[in-house]
Amino acid sequence: MVLKRPSATKTKDWKNVPYARGKNATPGRGLRREQAKWKRTVPELLAASDVEIVNILREDKLLVDWTGATCPICGRGTLGELVARPHKGNRLLHRCDAKCCQRYVSPVYLNPIFSEHSRAESLQKQAVLLRAKLAGTPHANAHVMFGVNHKAVERIWSNVEQARRMYVEDVEPTIEYSGSKVWADVEADEATFDKLDMTDGPEPLGDPTHPVMWEQWLGIVQRGRPRTLTLTRLCPEMAEKRAPGPGAVRKVEWKPLAERWLEDRDVVFHTDSARSYKLRVPGVIHDFVVHQKKYKKVGGKRVLIPPRYVELQTHVLPSGKHLKVKSGTQIIDRAWRFIKDRLHRSATAKAGTKLLATKIRSAQYDYWHKDDGMWAETGEMVQHIMRDVLVA
Ligand SMILES: [Zn+2]
Repeated sequence: MVLKRPSATKTKDWKNVPYARGKNATPGRGLRREQAKWKRTVPELLAASDVEIVNILREDKLLVDWTGATCPICGRGTLGELVARPHKGNRLLHRCDAKCCQRYVSPVYLNPIFSEHSRAESLQKQAVLLRAKLAGTPHANAHVMFGVNHKAVERIWSNVEQARRMYVEDVEPTIEYSGSKVWADVEADEATFDKLDMTDGPEPLGDPTHPVMWEQWLGIVQRGRPRTLTLTRLCPEMAEKRAPGPGAVRKVEWKPLAERWLEDRDVVFHTDSARSYKLRVPGVIHDFVVHQKKYKKVGGKRVLIPPRYVELQTHVLPSGKHLKVKSGTQIIDRAWRFIKDRLHRSATAKAGTKLLATKIRSAQYDYWHKDDGMWAETGEMVQHIMRDVLVA
């Protein structure tokens, strides 16, 4: 019989083998709210004058400084200083110096988060809403707390999510696993978010015997480096009405992903026991755990082998050296939990919609930066998105 070993008597080996190895590997530790350093407070943002709020947001990189930049409207002239324009209701605007253009450009022009139109809230209030969004306030609460129109709240919430999606899709391809001399531990697993029955609704589509479409994603992450979480939307086969789930990733979908992310990266690759992951890939040692209970015959008796979520394994590296690792998919399992907790799925975020993908990408961004100050990170994100628009 296999007994669970009390933690106090874990073997010496167990204690000596770290869960995450490799350069920059830090044990995961969520950001505790009271430790989050918020550079700006709500009273400070609300009390700022029109000039001050622009300066604050420029300093925090949430607005770009258009002074001296090429005019984004004509592409020829240069924009002047930000000046209050009496004949434009005293709004602060840059002006293009090209003779044929002479247009005014607002500091908020093309900004991915803030907007300006006749009914937009003041920049101060929009900044407060952003601050609330980044602190994790649900948007129904923000509407009540700050007494702003719920459309304005929704706009900021949705702008932040769209911007994150853009950013994540731009940055994700630059992620590299391992890359140090130590073999790194990388985990992968799939998650299912929603399903759609194509025969529901006024115009049934597709094959009536297999009408169910799944929203399934595959996640890969290196232990100890949350910023390496990459997500790929899978296209599982259409399923029967009563199918319990889409099943594991198929080999045809896994192969290109394995080659893209893992080939020759020198990684110990941890998964559950799904067959597709057994694919041989150069530079990858596969390590898997069995999540189901299994029965085995020992001396004619049926014996229960309990599921093993974490255990020590020894692998032989191509160099002939032996490497002890901890098996298991704790990190990617927790990443999926983290993302699902943040989805707050609305009725419209259904399988196959862009909205659901946007929400998943936005939660992926949250996971990348779960240990960072979100206000400062959002500034970096805005600068990244605006870098192509802002030409000197
Ligand atoms: Zn111009």
